Amino acid sequence: MTSLTLLLWIALGLALQLAIYLAIGFVRHWREYRFLRRRLRGLELPPESAPAAVQEDIAAEGWNGFRAFRVDRKQFEDAARSICSFYLVPEDGAPLPAFKPGQFLTFRLDVGGDAAGGAQIVRCYSLSDAPRKDYYRVTIKRALPPAGSDYPPGRSSSHFHDRVGPGDVLQVRAPSGHFHIERSQAPVVLIGGGIGITPMLSMLNWCVAEQPEREVWYFHGVRNGQELIMRPEIEALAEAHPNLHVRFCFSNPLPSEVSGRDYHHDGRIDVGMLRMELGLRPYEFYICGPTPMMESLVSALEDWGVPDSRIHYEAFGPASIRRRQAGDVQPADPDVSTASVMVTFSRSGKQLSWSPPDGSLLDFAEANGIDVNAGCRAGACGSCETAICAGEVAYRQAPDYDPEPGKCLLCMCTPKTSLILEA
Ligand SMILES: Cc1cc2nc3c(=O)[nH]c(=O)nc-3n(C[C@H](O)[C@H](O)[C@H](O)COP(=O)(O)OP(=O)(O)OC[C@H]3O[C@@H](n4cnc5c(N)ncnc54)[C@H](O)[C@@H]3O)c2cc1C
Repeated sequence: MTSLTLLLWIALGLALQLAIYLAIGFVRHWREYRFLRRRLRGLELPPESAPAAVQEDIAAEGWNGFRAFRVDRKQFEDAARSICSFYLVPEDGAPLPAFKPGQFLTFRLDVGGDAAGGAQIVRCYSLSDAPRKDYYRVTIKRALPPAGSDYPPGRSSSHFHDRVGPGDVLQVRAPSGHFHIERSQAPVVLIGGGIGITPMLSMLNWCVAEQPEREVWYFHGVRNGQELIMRPEIEALAEAHPNLHVRFCFSNPLPSEVSGRDYHHDGRIDVGMLRMELGLRPYEFYICGPTPMMESLVSALEDWGVPDSRIHYEAFGPASIRRRQAGDVQPADPDVSTASVMVTFSRSGKQLSWSPPDGSLLDFAEANGIDVNAGCRAGACGSCETAICAGEVAYRQAPDYDPEPGKCLLCMCTPKTSLILEA
């Protein structure tokens, strides 16, 4: 063997050793990498940003946080004095930002501590007049306890009715909400049931002032004339605007009330009634009222062939309504977990199994005795905003309130994966 061959053998041996060393290192690192990836998945870290909540850029016109408003005037709207309007002017005297008709204000109220809970609550109320330079108006119905129960009456509405009057100062967040009318030439149908008429009043007043040539139908459903609010003003608008068509629908008229004189339709607002009144035109429908009314009306409009994009609605109560699609099947949302998942409430030290019948995370927390804040229960006020320590949630519909990154609104979401919540 020559010295050159020997040298080659030595070099080959060294290269082999190096290759073995590198291969061992690579395998070790690959194992470590796979182990870390598995742990990371196990930790179910929150997404980089909070679940998307579409929020229009109204902040530029509004204000941040709460602003002081003085009650300028308080006016009962019905004979029973169960519905009351409050006219609000800004304490700082600065101009009032415009809003989109249909939007709401959020109030932080000091209601005084009682057996039902703490002293501060947050509630939302729709703006019930068109945008004006001099005041905002909200119209509030007193929430009575359910018939036959001995529950206390509604805290916020009782506070407004019994304790808020001219000169009082209230803390108010800027107008917000996705449920609003757009400027368009499309004919529009405004349907309000009970106190759900408030955003419709705003849309109606705006339409006749800003787009008097637009065809507007206004359906107001109540039990009888005692619940009908602002009748003279609405009738005066209809007199003055030939494109506005007003229909009062009474589901339980008083014996003294006569169809054709005191009201237009006997019964609840339904698609049969709408088909009788409306032509075959591409109407935009705006609906607000009790959940059962909206559930039946929205499905019936879909059955009638009204495209989804032309049906707009808002619930004052617990979040979304169930929508019926073709074949009476609820659409499966790929984001919502259909299996049981573990939810850990870290502050309360509870780990519980959630499954779809448990509903929203707010319902689930309350049903398990976990102390969480709640206000509107409709994704509007932000009271139930809670930090997500690990895992992901899914929203059934985009909330009006935009949660901070890494937080969620318990009233509007369900688990997407197993979760750790700071509650
Ligand atoms: C976007 C939006 C806009 C809104 N706009 C308007 C509007 O324009 N006008 C309006 O009047 N409302 C509006 N609301 C509803 C409003 O925000 C309040 O939900 C409503 O005033 C009731 O609040 P409350 O504090 O008076 O009643 P809560 O204290 O929340 O009580 C609600 C009901 O539960 C009953 N109750 C109390 N304790 C119990 C118990 N232990 N078990 C079962 N029931 C119980 C009460 O008697 C009452 O009937 C709107 C809501 C939203 C989300």
